[in-house]
Amino acid sequence: MSDRRRRIGVMGGTFDPIHHGHLVAASEVQSWFDLDEVIFVPTGQPWQKSDREVSPPEDRYLMTVIATAANPRFKVSRVDINREGPTFTIDTLRDLAATYPDADLYFITGADAMAAILTWRDHRELFELAHFVGCTRPGHEMNESTLEGLPRERVTLVEIPALAISSTDCRARVHSGEPVWYLVPDGVVQYIGKHGLYEPHEHTTKDAS
Ligand code: ATP
Ligand code: MG
Repeated sequence: MSDRRRRIGVMGGTFDPIHHGHLVAASEVQSWFDLDEVIFVPTGQPWQKSDREVSPPEDRYLMTVIATAANPRFKVSRVDINREGPTFTIDTLRDLAATYPDADLYFITGADAMAAILTWRDHRELFELAHFVGCTRPGHEMNESTLEGLPRERVTLVEIPALAISSTDCRARVHSGEPVWYLVPDGVVQYIGKHGLYEPHEHTTKDAS
């Protein structure tokens, strides 16, 4: 048995819904860094998305569990959902660092999130708590200028197979009756249908009355 420190990937996201872009990014980084596991952490109320209604945390959590269930290295954490108030990545990393004091954390982001990191709360401390892995994402450029101001020894850029999938697009598709098969895992398609997520408002109101 090797005595190297445990390596844990952390994949934060709203996951509204989780899609294959998230799963491929997590799988690629797991393999790239030989991570022992990747923990998906659905946000509580995301501070950057207060302009739109986000699905209930429990739905996003369950879709994430369904999507990751088959992979023995994937886990899902409730740490952000259980914390009161809006989610900040610094709190996610502090909590996970306290839970796993003997592990090295690798925070996985897409190019769009990577480019925004300097706007995140306590961004200097973020890099003390985790190594950051920026994954390529279609439509979002990531190059040396994206990394300006970031501690380069704590950031790695990884090219992953391009999947032009976003949760925004998946929600819009369901809303207008288009399919999301093969964009999200089958169980997630079924969960969305069963719970009527992302359907036009008229429908929800009708059901509730
Ligand atoms: P939304 O459109 O609602 O913002 P999203 O598709 O961007 O959803 P998030 O939950 O916001 O998904 O993203 C969580 C993380 O996954 C972010 O770091 C984001 O950059 C990354 N990510 C999302 N989709 C992809 C993709 N297709 N390829 C690579 N990374 C992705
Ligand atoms: Mg996003």
